[in-house]
Amino acid sequence: MVIILQKNISKENKENIRSFLKANQLRVNEIIGEEDTIFGAVGMVRLDPRMVEVLPGVARVIPISKPYKMASREFKKENTIVEIRNNRGETIRIGGSKVVAIAGPCAVESREQMFDIARHVAASGAVMLRGGAFKPRTSPYAFQGLGEEGVRLLKEAGDAFGLPVVSEIVSADHLPVMLDYVDLFQIGARNMQNFELLKRVGETGRPVVLKRGLAATIEELLMAAEYLLAAGTDRVILCERGIRTFEQATRNTLDLSAIPILRGLTHLPIIVDPSHAVGIRDKITPMGLAAIAAGADGIIVEVHCSPERALSDGAQSLYPDQFDKLMRGIDVLAPVVGKEVARIRKGFAVSPGALKGAKPSSQPAAGGGEQKIPRGTKKVCAFMGAWGAWADQAVNRFFGDGVDEVNFAAFRDVFRAVSEGRVDYGMVPVENSLAGSVYDNYDNLYRFEDVRIVGAITLRIEHCLLAVPGAAIGGIKNVFSHPHGFPQCSVFLEQHPEWKLVECESTADAAVRVAQAGSPENAAIASELAGQYNGLTELARGIESNPGNYTRFVVLAHEGTEKDAGGEFMFSGDMTKGSIIFITKNKPGALYGCLGVFHKNALNLTRLESRPVPGEPWRHSFYADIDVTAPGPGGGIQRSRQIVESVLGDLRAKTEEIRLLGLYRERDC
Ligand code: PEP
Ligand code: MN
Repeated sequence: MVIILQKNISKENKENIRSFLKANQLRVNEIIGEEDTIFGAVGMVRLDPRMVEVLPGVARVIPISKPYKMASREFKKENTIVEIRNNRGETIRIGGSKVVAIAGPCAVESREQMFDIARHVAASGAVMLRGGAFKPRTSPYAFQGLGEEGVRLLKEAGDAFGLPVVSEIVSADHLPVMLDYVDLFQIGARNMQNFELLKRVGETGRPVVLKRGLAATIEELLMAAEYLLAAGTDRVILCERGIRTFEQATRNTLDLSAIPILRGLTHLPIIVDPSHAVGIRDKITPMGLAAIAAGADGIIVEVHCSPERALSDGAQSLYPDQFDKLMRGIDVLAPVVGKEVARIRKGFAVSPGALKGAKPSSQPAAGGGEQKIPRGTKKVCAFMGAWGAWADQAVNRFFGDGVDEVNFAAFRDVFRAVSEGRVDYGMVPVENSLAGSVYDNYDNLYRFEDVRIVGAITLRIEHCLLAVPGAAIGGIKNVFSHPHGFPQCSVFLEQHPEWKLVECESTADAAVRVAQAGSPENAAIASELAGQYNGLTELARGIESNPGNYTRFVVLAHEGTEKDAGGEFMFSGDMTKGSIIFITKNKPGALYGCLGVFHKNALNLTRLESRPVPGEPWRHSFYADIDVTAPGPGGGIQRSRQIVESVLGDLRAKTEEIRLLGLYRERDC
């Protein structure tokens, strides 16, 4: 039952209710609601709801209609995100805004086999390594797994590539051995209803992936999950792996409709195992993609370097290059369903001096992944656009000479490079004073949940008229710029109606074209920096009609960077801004309630932006900047942190989701 407590309930009454429920053998979960606190109580004893309703401090009691309680959406509305940490201190999140790929062989066979396959699947983008060591085989004469040796090898190989490991547990007797090595327990299809095993594994509190039984209904799957939750773990991932039907063409029949059905019934993450579902190697890729399209939070796939020699399930194991192709397909598909693909950060080795004197290439790489990242002694900052673009200028102003730069063709590539640890920082625009918000980047801030804002800078956009040395204004016939560049300089351009205006991809690109053509009849409207990169001279400067043309950029870094720095923020000095993203509850007055929190804390909200949540029609996220300037010698940072923590605490109760994007220093140039 769900017990809604009265507003302003006293501590004493709350504890009395908790004790009463516990005395009746009910497990109590406290959920902080928008205005009230809620107790979720489940257990074997059927307690008359009226007995609870009369207790002092209880507002209402709502029975949960489903046979499964803690697994149901009635019990918990928000999606559960299961977090698993790797040996590098990174967190893999299953059930959030990223799709995860778990890959590896059916069974651990040898050290060499595990290291080979771990290397391959990690390179292709898997974030966890699978491998069975205790195999539940149909025949007692088939390979039964390497046992303890198997889980040890699995863990060694996983750790070598930063991949947490998944392995199936078939008997509670194996718990003492497996607890030392396994990050995520798998309960296999054949054991889905082994209730004693479910209870024992649930008691460990470890995360569990629960596979749907060969002939289990969706409700039976959820009842099995309920066993795990009731026993004490709150980290359960459901796995659709195909069910028995009359169809003989595939090993099982993959029930993709289970994904949207489960999504409505439960808050638990849902992954799909296309390997055991289909059983035929070349049919697995399309079904893996279909699972992502249907909304799965991830896939678990069997991959083997020599499947023809595999000791189990060779026929359904992908070759590493097939898995790589599947991952590239998922990369393309994920944004269509409003998601990104989770990756382990690679981190890169520094080779001192490698960058000395390097000149930037002029074109950004499309697709991000192909761009060559500089590897010098300095940290690396990515931006979007050509060299000399405004973002490039923002990097120079913010970091001075302190970073090397790399450019990408899309904002998303900048976020990805930061998320995957291929660069240290990213510089992206979020707002222009004349053109408005850069929505793409608000969406990216929501989507890339491991990326933080660590700085901000506002740049005055000052357009120059640039031409090759020796050119004069009187001789100009063609002017090149981005389509936005012309209207921004309309007053200046009206003085030269005879000029032909030529649109380019970007203002930086315009400078490149003028330099390459080499004609004194051409000019570009672009930045001073674009002129310098291309050896152009300034014929005029500050030619924009409205001098109040500013763009605000934010500096991105991976959340781990902050942690690596011992919780201190990278750019010293007092923090002036805090940025948060939140999703309000879908009810009247919800935003009003949230704004009240800023008012109550006497905080200046300097920006509020609303964006549709990708892939979830009519759900909106709100992005807010707050002024957290807290004067005081040395105490500024602590005070700013306190301010933000207090706001977050108050807002948490009023929102479905909330995330601190960063606490940082805002700079003006
Ligand atoms: C496995 O993952 O290797 C396995 C045996 O899966 P299932 O329990 O789904 O058959
Ligand atoms: Mn298998």
